Amino acid sequence: MNEFDLIAKYFTRPAVNADLGIGDDAALMSISAQHQLAISVDMLVAGRHFFADADPERLGHKCLAVNLSDMAAMGAKPTWFTLSLALPAMDEAWLAAFSRGLFALADQHAVSLVGGDTTKGPLTISIQIAGEIPSGQALLRSGAQIGDDVWVSGPLGAAAAAVMHRTGRVALPPDITQRCDLRLDQPTPRLALGMALRGIASAALDLSDGILGDLAHICEQSKCAARLHIDLMPYAEELKELSPALSLEAVLAGGDDYELCFTASSLHRQQILALGQSLATPLYRVGEIIDHQPQSPLVQVLDASGGVIATPFTGFDHFK
Ligand code: ADP
Ligand code: MG
Repeated sequence: MNEFDLIAKYFTRPAVNADLGIGDDAALMSISAQHQLAISVDMLVAGRHFFADADPERLGHKCLAVNLSDMAAMGAKPTWFTLSLALPAMDEAWLAAFSRGLFALADQHAVSLVGGDTTKGPLTISIQIAGEIPSGQALLRSGAQIGDDVWVSGPLGAAAAAVMHRTGRVALPPDITQRCDLRLDQPTPRLALGMALRGIASAALDLSDGILGDLAHICEQSKCAARLHIDLMPYAEELKELSPALSLEAVLAGGDDYELCFTASSLHRQQILALGQSLATPLYRVGEIIDHQPQSPLVQVLDASGGVIATPFTGFDHFK
């Protein structure tokens, strides 16, 4: 049983009093005739999601960034968050740096901390975030249509290269390591993009576990499949330092990029390219949504001549 089977078996129930429950980047509830509330929570555990000696200022940024990214994936405007902390010890230098990183990002997006919980325990940081969306305009995972283009903001894979370096799978030169570390530790939540995609994208999510696994979530919810073209994928420049096999893994199955992946009708191509330019966020059309044939994978990757590429890795799963 994997992480998603576990959620499906033990925790998925009909969402009474909610417009949208488990299964997307956030849940949705109506708060007035005109607005919906989007709510999401993410937990980061030392030794699991970050190295226990991680720079606390960067960690403060990252914990909030991954939550803001879920709001971006819904097209929501984030407004408030709560913070639950388990701390192994009272370390004021750590707390000062952590809160500095946290509030620098919070201030940048005008989100306010309105509560939380603090306890002693193994270092764990959990943030719950809430945002608002004009009713009916949220970007769901379930709206992709056959024939839609698949887009990503990017480039992709640098955060995965940082993890590969830290875990000893590759040895990167110091300047490249620094750039990859920055992508891993300080992801940029694509909030302006998410909001601008309301009414344009048919489905969206943020890339936390790698596009192969994450795009499969859109396919499951939208009852379709997807094809990616490897020559259209935006490889991060830093991946030139990796072997072809590892750079393929980084770009397709590397987590932690927190870019957005979305689908949209081909009628919107020009509009989407113009949007990327105006937001200075490069957007790449990397594939298309197709009908799902039984027995075939939800996400297929094709090479430049149309042959299927073997992808012997899957998205990150905590219980694999
Ligand atoms: P994301 O990567 O966007 O944060 P996840 O992959 O963590 O989303 O979770 C997938 C879906 O399952 C989400 O809708 C999330 O809210 C839900 N979920 C995860 N864990 C639980 C749980 N213990 N109880 C109820 N719902 C859960
Ligand atoms: Mg998400």
